[in-house]
Amino acid sequence: MSIKLIRYSPWLVHFNTGACNGCDIEVLAALTPHYDPERFGIRLAPSIRHGDILIVTGAITKKAAIRLRRLYEQMPSPKFVVAVGACAYDGGVFKDSYSLRRGAREVVPVDIYIPGCPPRPEAILHGIVKLLQKIEKLSEVGSR
Ligand code: SF4
Repeated sequence: MSIKLIRYSPWLVHFNTGACNGCDIEVLAALTPHYDPERFGIRLAPSIRHGDILIVTGAITKKAAIRLRRLYEQMPSPKFVVAVGACAYDGGVFKDSYSLRRGAREVVPVDIYIPGCPPRPEAILHGIVKLLQKIEKLSEVGSR
């Protein structure tokens, strides 16, 4: 899909790399009609191969890191990554654990971080909309 189309119709895929499910519940809440993400064209993709934006939640366990990278590689380009919550940023409360990588950025290129433990659905939507604005700028300069 062209980068311009992603700006107006981004399809999300969501991967939990070891979250406590707190962030996942908030991501799912953000996708409900109550928060109406479709007003921004945002909807869940039926398959990773149709995804434009990968939403990562949770601490990046070494086992999940392999799968996260594989999923990222299966997405068509251009593609973007949103890291949701403190764990996806740097491990959060589990930081420095022997079984973890130091955040999603060690495995995939992260475009936007959404802070919180967990962030509220409004914050998640706000972060995705910020990414869409970034995508719009990228499409104007013709990069990616
Ligand atoms: S950031 Fe907080 S809510 Fe989210 S997965 Fe980590 S511990 Fe759970």
